Amino acid sequence: MSDSFETLSLHAGYCPENGGPRVLPICQSTTFRYESTQAIAELFDLKAPGFFYTRLSNPTVDAVEKKIAALEGGVGAMCTSSGQAATLTAILTIAKAGDHIVCSSGVYGGTFNLMAVTFKRMGIDVTFIDQNASSEEISKAFRDNTKAFFGETIANPALTIFDISRMAEIAHKHHVPLIVDNTFATPYLCRPFDFGADIVVHSTTKYMDGHAVQVGGVVVDSGKFDWAKSGKFPEFVTKDESYHGLIYTKAFGNMAFIVKARAQIMRDLGLCQTAQGAFYINLGLETLALRIRRHSENALAVAKHLEKHPKVSRVIYAGLESSPYHALSKKYLKDGLCSGVLSLELKGGRDAGAALIDNVKMASPEVHVADIRTCLLHPASSTHRQLTDEQLVACGITPGLVRLSVGLEALDDIIKDLDEALDKV
Ligand SMILES: *Cc1c(COP(=O)(O)O)cnc(C)c1O
Repeated sequence: MSDSFETLSLHAGYCPENGGPRVLPICQSTTFRYESTQAIAELFDLKAPGFFYTRLSNPTVDAVEKKIAALEGGVGAMCTSSGQAATLTAILTIAKAGDHIVCSSGVYGGTFNLMAVTFKRMGIDVTFIDQNASSEEISKAFRDNTKAFFGETIANPALTIFDISRMAEIAHKHHVPLIVDNTFATPYLCRPFDFGADIVVHSTTKYMDGHAVQVGGVVVDSGKFDWAKSGKFPEFVTKDESYHGLIYTKAFGNMAFIVKARAQIMRDLGLCQTAQGAFYINLGLETLALRIRRHSENALAVAKHLEKHPKVSRVIYAGLESSPYHALSKKYLKDGLCSGVLSLELKGGRDAGAALIDNVKMASPEVHVADIRTCLLHPASSTHRQLTDEQLVACGITPGLVRLSVGLEALDDIIKDLDEALDKV
């Protein structure tokens, strides 16, 4: 098959048999029937491919995993119940109590909390670094027990761009994999593996689904990290007693990570995607290239318009030449397209932010981004409303900041709606 993104997004992962359904069928079954105990034993020993229980794999979910692996250029993928579950699974596959992770401080709030609070409770220590610091400075965060370095291609909601090649070099110098959350960019705008990342995670809830119908996540393995050579991952190169002595690198070569993620973490924690959910994600993937391109074009036009608006003090969007991340966006994002999400800061502060939200007519106030419908959120009066102005600034959010996720409506209508609401601010 052609390896162009548009073709893979329609055809990878599922090929109908003669007379079979043209569209990926929903395999709504928890279990699968076999003719003999021998056949089942081979599945349990991971010696034969196949399905035996939907927590571990399901034909519909499997097809979507193969499609996403193809789009990212990886050797394998595993869908999870949410983006949070994807990050949890990726980390728990390689780190345990007593280990340490280095993480960019600009990551998604849910990821920050998972790292700063829940991993700490589980005995996995995390050091946050400023991704704009020098490589020498960032290197100081790495320790003997460090097992991974984590960051986001386009951070939500800071909208900074992660310098993936430079970060991969730092991670590899310390013999650990670089894990990149590629949610906002999607593999259409950026394939982190092409720049040295080793593992990619996504919240498929955002652009991959794109229609705001299904929460989900995915972990993708590049197959490039050498777990044996690193010397820091004994669990990959010694016997897994919970799998009667299986050695992941020996049995599965460059798929050791993604097999271990499924065989251990999915088996034991059960954070699986459903067949129905995977079906929705697949529908979204089929049009991802078209949608993300138009989202990005609309967002750039809206950003340029707002940048000139008298009531707006600042627009944060890497596609703007005024952005400190403009050069990195050109390096990492296809055609310099930067997704549909931007932030604007209103001169009138907290009240102005709330007034904008209250006066838009078409755009909807939502705790969501990356939807086909334009939506917006004022953190100071919603997600961060318990914080004082000073505390807000400390988390990089000003009182008048509004996050805008530009949808696929006609550009003129999006701008008109914002302008009319801004008139009332
Ligand atoms: C939304 C989001 C997540 C969490 O995903 P859920 O599907 O909501 O669990 C993780 N990372 C990024 C960048 C996100 O935007």
